[in-house]
Amino acid sequence: MVHISIRDLTKSFGSLTVLDRVNLEIGEGELFFLLGPSGCGKTTLLRHIAGFYQPDSGQIFLDEEDVTRLPAHKRGTGMMFQSYALWPHLNVAQNVAFGLEERKRPRPEIEQRVADALDLVQLSGLGTRRIAQLSGGQQQRVALARALVIRPRCLLLDEPLSNLDAKLRHEMRSEIRRICKEFGLTGIYVTHDRDEALSMADRLAIMDGGRIAQLGTPEEVYRHPASPMVAEFIGETN
Ligand code: ADP
Repeated sequence: MVHISIRDLTKSFGSLTVLDRVNLEIGEGELFFLLGPSGCGKTTLLRHIAGFYQPDSGQIFLDEEDVTRLPAHKRGTGMMFQSYALWPHLNVAQNVAFGLEERKRPRPEIEQRVADALDLVQLSGLGTRRIAQLSGGQQQRVALARALVIRPRCLLLDEPLSNLDAKLRHEMRSEIRRICKEFGLTGIYVTHDRDEALSMADRLAIMDGGRIAQLGTPEEVYRHPASPMVAEFIGETN
C-alpha cells in the first residue's frame, strides 16, 4: 500500500532549482532512504514532507490525503535531526513530553506515553536527567523517543547518526531499524553515508542535482547502477 506519494515536486531558492519535478512513492512500513552527495536536495525534500517548506509546484500525499498546504504540526510526522534539537534547560522526560503537551493531552496519558517511549529507546529510569548529563548516543535516543511519542504517521530522519562515533552509529542503525519494523512505521531517512543506506534501507533513491537518479533496493542499485554518477557514488571506492 502506498503511504507517501510525491508528485512532480519542484522548488527553487532564487535562481537555484533544488528539487526538479521529483516523483516518488513510498510504501506503508517501508524504511526508505534518500541518498546522494551534499547539496543534491535530500534535506529540502524531507523538509517538504515534514511541512517546513512549501513547494513551488507539485503535491505531497500522506495516506491519499493531499497535505501539500497543511502546516507541519497538522501532518503527524515525527522528525529526528542530526543536531538532536533538544532543550538543554529541560530534563529528558520534559523533552520527550513536549510534543504531547503541545497537543494538550491529559497528564496521566503524557506520563504513560513518555515512559513507554523511553522504554522503547532503552532509556527507562533516565527521565529526570538533564540533557547535558547524557552522552551523545543517549541524547540521540532522547531525540528518537521525542519523535516516536506522538505516534507519528511516519518518521523523518535527517542524518540522525552523523554526530555519533562509529560504534554508536552501528548500534543506532539496528535500533532504528528494529523500532521501525516493530511498529510497521514508515521511515524516510536522509544520509550521504552509502554504507548506512545500503545496510538499513528497504529501498533507496539516489539524488543528483534535485532529481532522482535511481530508485531501487540496495542490491539493485549496488549491482546495476543506472549511470556513471550512481556507480561512482555507490561504488566500492566511495
Ligand atoms: P542535501 O541535504 O542533499 O545536502 P539540501 O537539500 O540541504 O541538500 O540543499 C540543496 C541546495 O539547496 C543547496 O545548494 C543548498 O545550499 C540550497 N538550500 C537549501 N535550503 C536553502 C534555503 N533555505 N535557502 C537557500 N538555499 C537553500
